[in-house]
Amino acid sequence: MAPRTDRHHAGPPLGPPLFVIGGGPGGLAVAAALRERGVRAVVLEKASVVGASWRGRYERLRLHTTRRLSALPGLPLPRQFGRWVARDDMARYLEKYADVHDLEIVTGVEVFRVEAAEGGGWVLHATGGRRLTSTAVVVATGHHHTPLLPDWPGLAGYGGEVVHAAAYRSPAPYTGKDVLVVGAGNSGAEIAVDLAEGGAARVRLAVRTVPHLVRRSVAGWPAQYTGVLVRRLPVWLADRVLRLLCRLTVPDLSAHGLPRPTTGLVARLRGADAFPVYDTGLVDAVRRGLVEPVAAVESFEQGKVVLADGTVLAPDAVIAATGYRRALEDLVGHLGVLDAHGRPLTHGARTPAQAPGLYFTGFTQPVSGTLRELARDAARIARAVTTGRPGRGSRRWRAGRRR
Ligand SMILES: Cc1cc2nc3c(=O)[nH]c(=O)nc-3n(C[C@H](O)[C@H](O)[C@H](O)COP(=O)(O)OP(=O)(O)OC[C@H]3O[C@@H](n4cnc5c(N)ncnc54)[C@H](O)[C@@H]3O)c2cc1C
Repeated sequence: MAPRTDRHHAGPPLGPPLFVIGGGPGGLAVAAALRERGVRAVVLEKASVVGASWRGRYERLRLHTTRRLSALPGLPLPRQFGRWVARDDMARYLEKYADVHDLEIVTGVEVFRVEAAEGGGWVLHATGGRRLTSTAVVVATGHHHTPLLPDWPGLAGYGGEVVHAAAYRSPAPYTGKDVLVVGAGNSGAEIAVDLAEGGAARVRLAVRTVPHLVRRSVAGWPAQYTGVLVRRLPVWLADRVLRLLCRLTVPDLSAHGLPRPTTGLVARLRGADAFPVYDTGLVDAVRRGLVEPVAAVESFEQGKVVLADGTVLAPDAVIAATGYRRALEDLVGHLGVLDAHGRPLTHGARTPAQAPGLYFTGFTQPVSGTLRELARDAARIARAVTTGRPGRGSRRWRAGRRR
């Protein structure tokens, strides 16, 4: 392919901008891909910095996807970050990404509502009474938008400490304490291990749906590569392959209270917001009794937590790793572009028939890795915006290589 020449160095594209809502990896990648095609894009970010979502996550966090398959288009993640990139390195990378691509980002601006403009296009209602118009809008506000705390009976009068995993940073405040972590997704599993290794006196993990435990890497082969390979297989076949792999690589923890799931991983992934849990120490911690799986939380009573099997616990603290809401209803729900679960009806380069020019990115959880898909979607969206046709981005840009 002939190298592109001066487009990146000719200064920012001029003219009325397209707006990208959200300055996380998804929004930044789309803005960069649009710019690569000579389209002026302005990112509106409600936080005071880009990549705020990464800065705010727990200290122990490392990507469970590989450095190479987690880079955004046009800038590799540096080799010195290692194979599993740490939280702070990811945040630094996002800042550098915005710099390198010279992105136009307005921080401290939240978009509250998107409305169809008379005569076509979109009006964005944002902080400070702003009314911004644009022919196309990309919604990149994040799958993990608003912490979700179940409506447990008795929670209001419980009186004990209950925090959402989104507020968890490190085990330090829990030294010597009896902690109940609720929810065995990636965050819950990792926080439970963090607490057990970080000095908590006792750690229990309340499990409602048994997780699909997957080794992050086996003999140097990352689970993500398998995810990429099986992604296009029929669900039944993908599930067979993955079931076999799990059986070969993850021990049976039934005796420790964590049986193997009976549903297929991909089938579950498609039907609900479930995701494989990458083992970053849980298997070992459960086997050694450092993390004790218990039944799901049913309700709260004064100072007590009641589990589904009738057990009553009195932990010093409860950490609810109970997921997030996309929270798109207020922003775009009135446009008829969401399904019954609040998920966008279209994704990536496609836009709903009733809402041309309204793009969504980052609202799926593919087994091949969200960051990888965000990167690919960015190129597809940019192409759709510039050509009017959904399609694949240029090979060089998709590959995430440095310009
Ligand atoms: C703990 C954790 C670990 C993860 N690890 C991995 C991993 O290893 N590999 C992987 O591929 N994926 C991972 N993911 C999933 C996903 O890649 C990340 O969540 C990623 O940050 C998603 O990028 P995003 O841009 O879609 O959303 P976000 O990173 O959430 O960014 C959205 C941005 O939009 C802003 N915003 C929201 N609403 C508005 C609004 N109305 N107006 C203006 N701004 C707004 C927010 O402040 C935020 O900065 C992980 C997720 C979590 C929660």
